[in-house]
Amino acid sequence: MSDLTSLTVAGALSKLKTREISPVDLVQAYAKKLEENKKYNAFVTLVVDDALAKAKDAEQKYLNNTNRRLEGIPLGVKDLFCTKGIRTTACSHILDNFVPPYESTVTQNLLDDGALFLGKLNMDEFAMGGSNETSYFGPVVNPWSKDVPLVAGGSSGGSAAAVAAELCAAATASDTGGSIREPSAFCGVTGIKPTYGRCSRYGIIAFASSLDQAGPICKDVTDCALLLNSMAGYDPKDSTSSKRDIPDFSSFIGQDIKGLKVGVPLEYRPDGLNPEIASYWDSAAQILKDCGAEIVNISLPHTKYALPAYYVIAPAEVSSNLARYDGVRYGLRIEGNNLDNLYISTRSEGFGTEVKRRILIGTYVLSAGYYDAYYLKAQKVRRLIKNDFDNAFQKCDVILTPTSPVEPFAIGDTKMLENPINMYLNDIFTVSVNLAGLPAMSLPIGLSHNGLPLGMQLIGRAFDEATIFKTAYHLERGANFVRM
Ligand code: GLN
Repeated sequence: MSDLTSLTVAGALSKLKTREISPVDLVQAYAKKLEENKKYNAFVTLVVDDALAKAKDAEQKYLNNTNRRLEGIPLGVKDLFCTKGIRTTACSHILDNFVPPYESTVTQNLLDDGALFLGKLNMDEFAMGGSNETSYFGPVVNPWSKDVPLVAGGSSGGSAAAVAAELCAAATASDTGGSIREPSAFCGVTGIKPTYGRCSRYGIIAFASSLDQAGPICKDVTDCALLLNSMAGYDPKDSTSSKRDIPDFSSFIGQDIKGLKVGVPLEYRPDGLNPEIASYWDSAAQILKDCGAEIVNISLPHTKYALPAYYVIAPAEVSSNLARYDGVRYGLRIEGNNLDNLYISTRSEGFGTEVKRRILIGTYVLSAGYYDAYYLKAQKVRRLIKNDFDNAFQKCDVILTPTSPVEPFAIGDTKMLENPINMYLNDIFTVSVNLAGLPAMSLPIGLSHNGLPLGMQLIGRAFDEATIFKTAYHLERGANFVRM
């Protein structure tokens, strides 16, 4: 049975089509794995019986040759995506009894293509965090952990860990400042954050609306293309979703990259960069060179302002987006003797420390007198960062960088938890991409001397996921990373 769970989505689909395996076999194999691997805390809600019932329909569809493009593929869904009739919590106490009456567009697209959902995946509370330790349901354990339990990365830690431990064939995730890419790197799996606007945000619980974007976390590059084909698309219910044509992302897998210009940004290589990560970066560049690409040095001069700008803009949007959780309309309600006290007690009890910190920072930077000093400045920096990328893409077609400056660390690491800035610093290579709205993928490149996965990031021009897929496929082959 366990070889069924090791199949990629592409691999499972081809065996399903020839009827070598059935969707019911597949769901049963995952059900067994899920039962045996509760220790990772990757899922917060399971709906395996539902998946099993739907697998029977899927089986029928294969028999009738009416199977759709992801028919019978068992997925995990980050608990940020509203799923009709299935509890959706954003891993917050304030929503821990919330059952949405509607389906997010991205998950609806997957259902329309025949995918099955095994359950909802653990994540940082409201997707705020980089280690999955802010979840109301406790941290996810990285399946690569040895003696000490390690973080799976965040905020999509459940998605990455579940894919790595083969608890689902692939997963949905979201990325506001790195939450698809960083956990993918930490768990040795592959994830892509598409261009802002590629996937609808309708029904995804909002963190920072101008940065949030959905994407898949998968076992490999080919599966990311398959999943993104289904997830992406214009949606009239999201005014920021794009009407641009969606190419068949799978068609770029295997295309050659001769003459492709791969940019390597100077500013991403500070003196203190972990030497192991720096050396994998060099070997990744060499792999692409051996495939006929040309490596060019580029500069992204405003990189050092990206983190401060992100940690002003994202909290500002948080303070506004999370105002709706007031105990009146849905979610947790803690009674008070008047309306103000109802708000205060509900929000005090319902939100965790990191979420409260961001609401406070956000409210501060938006308040009169500080708005110009912080928020407006951060928005100007955001434009300069976007301009840096525009200039860089005059010289290159895709950018290669590490995904994270660190390898997975221990759950409860005091350095990270005592000073939140240390955690924020881990987002150094990922946040610029969200500020500029660009697509970027993380894929595993190799293991550290501690035997832990490290990831490389490929950043593309806006709406040019195609070049990322083309390049990533060659990098994946060259790196020859062995999954868990
Ligand atoms: N780690 C970043 C943060 O805490 C990114 C989170 C995300 O992308 N959702 O904001």
